[in-house]
Amino acid sequence: QTFPGEAMLAGLTPPQRQAARQEGAVVVLAGAGTGKTRTLVAGVVDRIGRRNIAPSRILAVTFTNRAAEEMRSRIADAVGAERAPGWIGTFHAHGRRQLRTDPDIALLRDGFGIADAEDSRRIVRRLLQAATADGALDAQDGDTFRQRVKSVTTRIALFKDDLVLPQQAAAGVEALVQRYPGQTPEDVMAWHLAAALYPAYQEALREANMADFGDLLLWPTVTMQRDEDYRLDWGRRFDAILADEFQDVNRLQYQWLQLLSRDHGEIFAVGDDAQSIYGWRGANVGYIRNFINDFPGGTMIALEQNFRSTGHILSAANAVIALDSGRLEKTLFTATGAGDPIETMEFSGGLEEAQGIAFEIGRRLLEGVAPDDIAILYRFNFMSRLLEEQLLKAKIPYELVNDTAFWQRGVIRDALALLRLASCPDDMHSDEAFRRVINQPARGVGAKTLAKIEAVAEQDYVSLFQAAEQLFGSARGRSADRVRTFLSTIREISASGDAPLAERIRELLDRTGYADMYRAAGEDGRAALENLEELVGLCVEFATLADLFDHAALGSVSGQASGEGRVRLMTIHAAKGLEYGHVFLMGWEDRLFPSATNPDADEERRLAYVALTRGRRRVAVTWCAWRGGRFAEPSVFLSEIPPRALCRGWLRNRLSGTASSPSGHRV
Ligand code: ATP
Ligand code: MG
Repeated sequence: QTFPGEAMLAGLTPPQRQAARQEGAVVVLAGAGTGKTRTLVAGVVDRIGRRNIAPSRILAVTFTNRAAEEMRSRIADAVGAERAPGWIGTFHAHGRRQLRTDPDIALLRDGFGIADAEDSRRIVRRLLQAATADGALDAQDGDTFRQRVKSVTTRIALFKDDLVLPQQAAAGVEALVQRYPGQTPEDVMAWHLAAALYPAYQEALREANMADFGDLLLWPTVTMQRDEDYRLDWGRRFDAILADEFQDVNRLQYQWLQLLSRDHGEIFAVGDDAQSIYGWRGANVGYIRNFINDFPGGTMIALEQNFRSTGHILSAANAVIALDSGRLEKTLFTATGAGDPIETMEFSGGLEEAQGIAFEIGRRLLEGVAPDDIAILYRFNFMSRLLEEQLLKAKIPYELVNDTAFWQRGVIRDALALLRLASCPDDMHSDEAFRRVINQPARGVGAKTLAKIEAVAEQDYVSLFQAAEQLFGSARGRSADRVRTFLSTIREISASGDAPLAERIRELLDRTGYADMYRAAGEDGRAALENLEELVGLCVEFATLADLFDHAALGSVSGQASGEGRVRLMTIHAAKGLEYGHVFLMGWEDRLFPSATNPDADEERRLAYVALTRGRRRVAVTWCAWRGGRFAEPSVFLSEIPPRALCRGWLRNRLSGTASSPSGHRV
């Protein structure tokens, strides 16, 4: 071995190796399972090992924390942990680091907080409520109001993803409406509303010293556009930039990558336009298709051999994607043989489907299949509920794969709110946290009392916590006593500043009665207590509170069970880039999949392609004749799969081994 990691390069096919070693701007545009991610990892290893680029000067972006962790560990295996690059992560994570270095570019101060989706919605809710009270908007019933909050929040995020600043939004509405097909009149109204509220929303964030997800990348990018010194400062920190899943970058992410790589032109992008599934979030597949025009002198490399799936799985996937009109033609073949056909199962309803899948998985586990080699994929998050119940019943260990699920749990958010409140009770930035925990457990603080506290806070320009101290300082009664105890406990813990995080949080949970609330709930409280224990354990990893809060906002794998020995449940979107020996695709019925709510029919098709190509050896597709109170037909995608690649029912005996056709199988 002449350089560290050489063995990894040697394990590639010639075109893969060429791509990994190529200098300058390189794009690998190739189908699913052709080794794009593997090639990208080898590209990092080649830059470090052979080209001697310092690991700290390499920047690699992925779309999920999980993918980033995986990439880091593979690179560490090849070149040694001490030589793994420090800048491997999601766009959000990179943006966060850049913004933390100079928060003033977003008019923020050191130690700013990160607003997650729920925080953003809460701000929009307040703005909308104010507008309704002013008579600027018609009053709406609860459901419609909630819907409106959501659609405005989403659209503000889309403005940011399209590099539209608050003051430009009003003029930018038309352009964005055009970008998204099938916008209803209500949608168009929501765009206008979002454009109108965006400046106030941004002001509210700034006042609270918070950045939302979009801000993390938006302000570094606009500042790099405006200020050449700033751009050079950042551009000169890196000698090589690599990006996986490039088909899903949006305008903001693309600009950011371009600005950073402008001087050296060292950008290595891999992706597959047939797997572009984030159009609804502003992703633009045009960037990968036009890569060569945007980076003159760049190299485009195709990979055609699929190393992941058997022939039947590939011919099914290819048949479905062939009908996507916009896609670039690509060849894909496998040398692994036809393998087992795709199993299809019809069920009478969702419950039966969940039972059927759980039963079949139980059977495969008995046959010796490893649980973590099995995944169940669905179109929408809500579809996991029935399945979880049945897996629990069948005692099959499972894990919901979702980058932020753990941190979004109510108990975890409560515990973090306690921490935030105790870290700065006198700061108005902890008002949200105060609202969240003041009446948990119940201390008799209802909406009326809260309104009183708010009034005092506003009048004296103090935090809600301070206002509560004033109000309850000498008040009488049991409820007042309870509130007073809570306030003084927080004060005390707040004063004991430097205790380790894990200790502080345990003290907070115990002394405020929060944990007791769940202990008293017996069996019902057990899951909550387990989550809290997990949080306390996790806190050991964080040096500062800011680290913990950032991590909570951006989510990460380490916040979840490691997943070993568990069946994976996730949406098709979350399954991007992953692979499993056994894949169950549920809910393939008309209306549900392709989803009747997505006006972009080709995007549903690409989702089907992504779903099918996650499977290595066995893929099963299930559908229900009755769902949501209506009869359903099997998904149109099923009818597009060549019949010889399909079989009805579960395969009881393996029809063929995985290498049944040694001569190779072209599809
Ligand atoms: P996707 O489009 O789904 O992201 P991809 O193109 O990134 O797929 P990878 O995940 O990198 O593909 O590779 C798919 C599988 O094929 C992995 O298990 C990988 O280890 C394997 N593989 C890729 N290239 C080779 C190779 N040259 N030799 C052996 N196995 C390979
Ligand atoms: Mg990949």
